[in-house]
Amino acid sequence: MSAYDKQKALKRMAELLRSGAVMLEETCPVCGLPLFKLKSGEIVCPVHGPVKVVGSEAEAISAVTESVLSTLEKIITQKLSRIVNEIIQGDKDLLDTVKELQELLDLMEKVRKVKSLRTTSQRK
Ligand SMILES: [Zn+2]
Repeated sequence: MSAYDKQKALKRMAELLRSGAVMLEETCPVCGLPLFKLKSGEIVCPVHGPVKVVGSEAEAISAVTESVLSTLEKIITQKLSRIVNEIIQGDKDLLDTVKELQELLDLMEKVRKVKSLRTTSQRK
């Protein structure tokens, strides 16, 4: 970073602080300057402007995955309960549905395994 850029960055930092922004412990992954949190909640680098904080991005992706897994689990449960109902009502024979049930239960087990793995890794 040249002296001129440094001067500009310092000036911008002062401006940010004056506008009520808060200096964060996190630094910009590109230039290493401290990041600032604006009153609007936006995270900015004094040089590079708005910065996506990796942590919150990862959390956002994680939340989507979580909801996909939960939906999948729900669908499997619904399908299972429909088959079981059909067996109870005599529309289907248990032996005819064994393979389907097994596949659904396998899938359910896998979904739950992925979910529990994710929860454990998030707890560290
Ligand atoms: Zn930067």
